[in-house]
Amino acid sequence: MAACLAAPRASLLPQAPGKQAQAAAALAPRARPRVLAARPQQRAAARRAMTVTAMAAKLIDGKAIAEDIRKELKAEVEVLKAKYGKTPGLAVVLVGERKDSQTYVRNKKKACEEVGIVSYGTDLPETASEEEVLKVVADYNADPSVHGILVQLPLPKHIDEQRVLDAISIEKDVDGFHPLNIGALAMRGRDPLFVPCTPKGCLELLKRSGVQLSGKRAAVVGRSNIVGMPAALLLQREDATVTVIHSRTPDAQRICAEADIIIAACGKAEMVEGDWVKEGAAVIDVGINAVDDPSAKRGYRLVGDVNFAQAAERAECITPVPGGVGPMTIAMLLRNCVDGATRAFAAGH
Ligand code: NAP
Repeated sequence: MAACLAAPRASLLPQAPGKQAQAAAALAPRARPRVLAARPQQRAAARRAMTVTAMAAKLIDGKAIAEDIRKELKAEVEVLKAKYGKTPGLAVVLVGERKDSQTYVRNKKKACEEVGIVSYGTDLPETASEEEVLKVVADYNADPSVHGILVQLPLPKHIDEQRVLDAISIEKDVDGFHPLNIGALAMRGRDPLFVPCTPKGCLELLKRSGVQLSGKRAAVVGRSNIVGMPAALLLQREDATVTVIHSRTPDAQRICAEADIIIAACGKAEMVEGDWVKEGAAVIDVGINAVDDPSAKRGYRLVGDVNFAQAAERAECITPVPGGVGPMTIAMLLRNCVDGATRAFAAGH
């Protein structure tokens, strides 16, 4: 079992199906969470963030954990200001007029303000050339008041995304997508300057919920450059034994059902069903999928890559969608920016 808690779990009580199991869960005496490998303030945060659901699993509340992180960062920014007389800065480059990208950029800038990071922005028209975008990146690379550069993806089709991402100085690569940062993440004995925000958020959720990683079996569903692959590398760095599942993997259900930890990032609505989840596993659901729902106000609802209701009957702890991994992505972006600034200030820049 993933060892989120020492408390007896409803799913480990005499087996009772459906409502009976839920009632058993509600009545089961729950010992205080034994949060392994966590510092005292993390233990307190874990107790706050993990609330007992009507199901067997405990809910990992990404919103609450992200809020804790933002508070910690705000305090760190104050300390940096007092110590160096300087403030961390994040530059966001937006090319084109995509509404979703504009919303993401707005949210990132707002989150910066909340913790005291100065945000800079350059908005270029859809017709901007690759050279123009590269010039903006080069200017931010040279600007000492900027400690993180984020180019909002996707870029318009005529621009080579990889060329632009590669142009970001690795010291300011707060998205962690630069091949040198990914390369260092994959190597033993090397530490990347930055780790991609979403997988970093997944690991933070597990750690702050007291989930033991070392020596555990983990399954990562998905191998994308931005989520699955770095999530697997991060778990491996924590001494978990990791299996990566992708679209050509036979028997994905069996592999997941043997895992103490599942990170699901395949972009397939509710693909990870109840019988994919080992009793007592920790489940992190990265997926965000809109499914038709005539009863919902907007005609659709958001679900993850995990069938939440089924998985929660068996898991020890699980993230909801929305409110799980999502809020952590921006919190980790801010974390990366403050880390970049701290390194720069300490080096006298
Ligand atoms: P992606 O680039 O489309 O990658 C999906 C991965 O899943 C691929 O590696 C693919 O395998 C694998 N896959 C697809 N179908 C599969 C199947 N039937 N069985 C096993 N593996 C399968 O997606 P992504 O960018 O990593 O995003 C994954 C999900 O996370 C999406 O729902 C996305 O919206 C969400 N997301 C959320 C956040 C957040 O902040 N919460 C951030 C990023 C992404 P192949 O490599 O073989 O094609």
